[in-house]
Amino acid sequence: MDPSGLERLDQRIAGCRACPRLVGWREEVARVKRAAFADWTYWGRPVPGFGPPDARLLIVGLAPAAHGGNRTGRMFTGDRSGDVLYRALYDVGLASQATATHLGDGLELYGVRVTSPVHCAPPANKPTPGERDTCRPWLVRELRLLRPTVRAALVLGAFGWQAALPAFAEAGWTVPRPRPAFAHGARVTLDAADGPGLHLVGCFHVSQRNTFTGRLTPDMLRDVLRMAAEAAGLPARK
Ligand code: SF4
Repeated sequence: MDPSGLERLDQRIAGCRACPRLVGWREEVARVKRAAFADWTYWGRPVPGFGPPDARLLIVGLAPAAHGGNRTGRMFTGDRSGDVLYRALYDVGLASQATATHLGDGLELYGVRVTSPVHCAPPANKPTPGERDTCRPWLVRELRLLRPTVRAALVLGAFGWQAALPAFAEAGWTVPRPRPAFAHGARVTLDAADGPGLHLVGCFHVSQRNTFTGRLTPDMLRDVLRMAAEAAGLPARK
């Protein structure tokens, strides 16, 4: 594949202003800031995907967090959800370090790319259906560029699952009707007429609401990561 194609796409995403409400929100958050991050210059723009252009495994969230990705400019970086996700990726051997704090912190992902169906932080972490649909073409383009190598996707949460399925269909995989239901540990394979299929694995979102309450434990997250890595043909540490 053409790595520069994905880099160009990421640059274009970072300049998008298609959703007025989200542009206003992300920029206001960047201006007002949270007291703990008063000395930061917030990113305040759409957050592109993160990870190598020849990734075999995709991790799909929903949208960046206001003081996480919207502050640091990298998916799941600088918030509690990311602390849990990158710790687990490190534990199973898919990340170079357990922490993700800022661009340039040295974090590398091994065969994994992290992205989302909505690239701007939404108020209350909830994009509208219209914003979700407006942002979908970015994910479709990303998926098309990754198709030569990507073999599995771990989708975090029911909202991400519902938002991502139409993008998988538009990118060339066949999504069964009725659409497969989300569940933690759910597995479904999307066939493609003109290439390899894509193994989908569902996982509860790594939100604080799930991780603080024990609905999603580190063991559960490591287990589904290993499952998804195996489906993708990536070696994962036991
Ligand atoms: S959510 Fe997506 S489509 Fe909307 S402004 Fe952000 S990057 Fe653009």
